[in-house]
Amino acid sequence: MKTPQSLASLDQQRTGIASQIAAPGDLRSGSVTPTTGRCGRPNCHCHQLNDPGHVPISAYLRPNPGERAH
Ligand SMILES: [Zn+2]
Repeated sequence: MKTPQSLASLDQQRTGIASQIAAPGDLRSGSVTPTTGRCGRPNCHCHQLNDPGHVPISAYLRPNPGERAH
């Protein structure tokens, strides 16, 4: 039978794991990309001078490229 670890050691492990879980990480499957409002299409109006482009917020890019907003 495996020797039980000390409570202190177990508590230390738990604290380490808990801190890993609580750590602010990007857990989303996509990526948040700051955008200037320009999409990837060179011919789009957003590439014109003085055009504000598309939504001036961070775009949430999903793994599915078909759902990516331009
Ligand atoms: Zn565009």
